[in-house]
Amino acid sequence: MGGRRLWVKRDDCTGAVGSGNKLRKLEFIAAEAIAAGCNTLISCGGVQSNHCRTTAWVGARLGLRVHLLLRLDGDAKIDDTPDGNLLLSQLLGARVECLSANDYQAQMPALMQQRAEEYASRGHRARIIPTGASDATGVWGYIQACSELARDFRKLAIAPRHLVVAAGSGGTLAGLSAGVALTGLQLRIWGVNVCNDRPWFEKKVRADLEAWARRYRQPAALAEGSVHIIEGYAAPGYARCTPAVWKTIRHAATSAGLVLDPVYTGKAFHALLQELDSGRFERNDDIVFLHTGGLFSLFPQRAQLAAHPLS
Ligand SMILES: *Cc1c(COP(=O)(O)O)cnc(C)c1O
Repeated sequence: MGGRRLWVKRDDCTGAVGSGNKLRKLEFIAAEAIAAGCNTLISCGGVQSNHCRTTAWVGARLGLRVHLLLRLDGDAKIDDTPDGNLLLSQLLGARVECLSANDYQAQMPALMQQRAEEYASRGHRARIIPTGASDATGVWGYIQACSELARDFRKLAIAPRHLVVAAGSGGTLAGLSAGVALTGLQLRIWGVNVCNDRPWFEKKVRADLEAWARRYRQPAALAEGSVHIIEGYAAPGYARCTPAVWKTIRHAATSAGLVLDPVYTGKAFHALLQELDSGRFERNDDIVFLHTGGLFSLFPQRAQLAAHPLS
């Protein structure tokens, strides 16, 4: 693309049912939960949460009960014919509880604690997983991914200087930030926020890294983080796309077989193309786009996709 080579790290193929970045974090969280004697996972997210669907899959694979608290956005009702991630979470056997956006806002995360206590009173032991599996333990997922990236780069004999990824709850950025420092990769991490703003992400990434460094006795310097947030692509709001993003989604699919989603990867990839045009990245660099999954959120938005044909 204009003299630069674009590489895609296919974390949409991490091994679960059409999984994505959440599996990398849940790999460590589930292991820790099992080691601690837990038989139940409790988590929360939007009604089409990729993280919640992945948690449901992990539970089904490992024999853990899964209880999900989901936020219905706007005036959406829980429908009789669930779609996308919600359909899969139910199919995978998760217990699903839906709340209005207001109730969710007011009651989370305390409600997860309450549910954990209810399970405990019935003799179960639950591990609470925060939004997006972004916690001290989840950070390990993208530290490990950095070792994998270093191997990929050696094998391909490339030395990319930039990596672009969508940012939602910040845990992927936190792991990448610690991971590049630990592996010595000369890779600048760019997060495209799909919600909140730059100060929110800088604070969240630092908080996740501090929790990780404390918990696992890692150097405090690593907790400072070194991520760069590219703002300006979240509009018109979480899980909603501009016509330009729909166009990018169609273009990536038809020209490269790269299927992106409207909540995360479509926006991040669109940002990458725009920023390439405006000269944010140095010329002639190899650039990595981290594809974080999200396929199933495309289907519930089929009407919007149909409304934005290529030509
Ligand atoms: C959750 C998610 C992200 C964002 O990752 P965070 O670690 O929450 O910042 C990006 N892409 C997809 C498809 C996701 O599901």
